[in-house]
Amino acid sequence: MKHDEVQNLENWDKEYVWHPFTQMKMYQQNKPLIIERGQGSYLYDIEGKKYLDGYASLWVNVHGHNVPALNEALIDQVHQIAHSTLLGSANVPSILLAKKLAEITPGNLRKVFYSDTGSASVEIALKIAYQYWQNTNLEKYKNKHTFISLDEAYHGDTIGSVSVGGMDLYHRIFEPLLFKRVSLPTPHTYRMTEFDHAEDVKNFCLQRLESLLQEKADEIAGIIIEPLVQGAAGIITHPSGFLKGVENLCRKYNVLLICDEVAVGFGRSGTMFACEQEEVVPDILCVGKGITGGYMPLAATITSQKIFDAFLGEKEEHKTFYHGHTYTGNQLSCSVALKNIQLMEETALIEKVQVNAAFVNEQLQNLYMLDIVGDIRQRGLMVGIEIVQDRETKTTFPIQENKLDNIVLAARQKGLIIRQLDQVLTFMPVLAMSQNELEEAIRIIYQSILKNM
Ligand SMILES: *Cc1c(COP(=O)(O)O)cnc(C)c1O
Repeated sequence: MKHDEVQNLENWDKEYVWHPFTQMKMYQQNKPLIIERGQGSYLYDIEGKKYLDGYASLWVNVHGHNVPALNEALIDQVHQIAHSTLLGSANVPSILLAKKLAEITPGNLRKVFYSDTGSASVEIALKIAYQYWQNTNLEKYKNKHTFISLDEAYHGDTIGSVSVGGMDLYHRIFEPLLFKRVSLPTPHTYRMTEFDHAEDVKNFCLQRLESLLQEKADEIAGIIIEPLVQGAAGIITHPSGFLKGVENLCRKYNVLLICDEVAVGFGRSGTMFACEQEEVVPDILCVGKGITGGYMPLAATITSQKIFDAFLGEKEEHKTFYHGHTYTGNQLSCSVALKNIQLMEETALIEKVQVNAAFVNEQLQNLYMLDIVGDIRQRGLMVGIEIVQDRETKTTFPIQENKLDNIVLAARQKGLIIRQLDQVLTFMPVLAMSQNELEEAIRIIYQSILKNM
């Protein structure tokens, strides 16, 4: 792109675009990164500089950018029709995708309610869970109005999904607008220094959950949880067996289990869905992000037959689920999602992720040679590297030192895009990234931390 075109775009971006989760005052002082195209694991900016996509374009990209089979799925579909509504009619790709989702999700999950963002899929799950108990018409379930979620949970940005979230940074300002939730300590082994073993952390949190349920199961509609890894909270990996323990308590105390797999689903954690690793079957499953391979906005809330059946009745009984978004079941999104899943199967991507996750784990150990690396957490191809001032005390750097911003910027200059979540560097590569590319990315991360020690 010519120099003056680049200049124009940079100016207009600052003049007209309000970026999400971004302090625009600082943004306007820096040169923006403007992406023009992508190919495989690489992004290219408008000046032709290339970068490894080490954040999978916000955790969504599966097979890489500009994948012929996915492009063709979209082109074929657009020649048929781009969009028609699911309110009062059906469409071909949304049917085929729902059938496929029912087949690949765990247990008897089989009813697919579409939406277009992860936040909406959570909002829908909460409304379904709440109304499920109301629809039973049983007096003893009438007070099930509340949800339990983890202290540092992140479930999206709409008011409902923020209400069940717990990340103070994002939530404090909206406090007066939110509905009440019951919070459960996050089993964060690295930070819960009062315990010696992950097993003790797990038991402590599960005991807390059990006493909460003993006390108020009558008021609890459901528990919502990110299975195995809390992404936005800083890639907090849960002790093994925690999810299974939560499921068992849900069954024992008759509350619904909602698994938010928006981040961990579609291979990211090393299995198609993270719940599979502990043989857990939620009542309601939320998926988004990777579902279309990173091509189109699409999300889904998938329920068991039991949940669905509670919504059946005569019109005048008002058991209907009164919810639906304009672009629900959009054909372009559904057709590319279907192709994404087929391609995952054809290329045996899950097995490849497992092999590459082990490779990444080995490579990452080198980072412990750098004193400011406190903890490296990984599940599948989700990695969090916690940066600390002091390994013993685990204290973090003062925010005004911009430590993490500087590391991320150094990585960008060396040709890798990663992001930080507070004091944690996150590495979320394109799922199909090759071992050579993964090795290169980790080498850049090492150098970028070293440069900012
Ligand atoms: C990203 C995310 C969401 C929100 O999805 P959006 O598409 O950004 O609305 C919800 N839950 C989890 C666990 C996420 O990682």
